[in-house]
Amino acid sequence: MHEIIEFLGVSKRYGQVSVLEHLELGISRGRVTALIGESGSGKSTLLQMINGLLAPDDGRVEVFGRPVPAGRSSAFRRRIGYAVQGTGLFPHMRIDGNIGLLGKLAGWAAAKLADRIDELMSLMGLDPQLRNRYPHQLSGGQQQRVGICRAMLLHPEILLLDEPFSGVDLLMRDEIHERFSALMRAEPATVVLVTHDIREAMRLAQDLVVLDGGCVLQAGSVHDIVDRPANAAVARLFERLNEA
Ligand code: ADP
Ligand code: MG
Repeated sequence: MHEIIEFLGVSKRYGQVSVLEHLELGISRGRVTALIGESGSGKSTLLQMINGLLAPDDGRVEVFGRPVPAGRSSAFRRRIGYAVQGTGLFPHMRIDGNIGLLGKLAGWAAAKLADRIDELMSLMGLDPQLRNRYPHQLSGGQQQRVGICRAMLLHPEILLLDEPFSGVDLLMRDEIHERFSALMRAEPATVVLVTHDIREAMRLAQDLVVLDGGCVLQAGSVHDIVDRPANAAVARLFERLNEA
């Protein structure tokens, strides 16, 4: 059976530096998969190949059973939500404008757009009054939630999250995790979550991919990897991450 996302012998270099080497990886539909590994292990590079922001040098990435289209295919991109670390919100745009941007570009009627923005803000526990504020008038945690709302606007089948909850203090992170889980119950998607927080991975994900130096050390269900780390390096990574 084909996975919703497949990496087939994928290599990626920046200049002379090899970042991913002959990567073979399948990501299952309808599950939350956490990509975990230390800074520089290739997590963000891998994620950006799923929505075509980066192209492999060798091999190919297949999504929805087809190679990722070259260039900016808007029909393809609309099926994939993307939220990054540090939120990437437009500072000069109000919160509703940020969340609704892709709907506006897709020509949605104002009422439909407003309803969808309300629905998402409510699911993520954002006070409706925040709609008219600018990003800098929100806390870091609120901004991260807005980033998730924006990524979910068009009901994407795949949601890519690059350390979306980092930089939020631990208490707030618990609440965002709960909101996010509720959102995924209400609107299920295949989620690929980049994180270096093992507790976050264990809490939100069913599957784990452990990366180190651009190689997959182990991939499988959270349960299996915790019970049976494939090697000492995976076990060590968990210990180190646990201490952080
Ligand atoms: P992670 O997200 O796990 O921290 P990245 O995928 O961002 O890792 O980066 C993997 C490696 O590739 C790192 O060593 C990083 O310095 C390097 N790298 C990432 N982007 C670029 C780039 N645009 N040009 C050159 N090197 C890069
Ligand atoms: Mg990264």
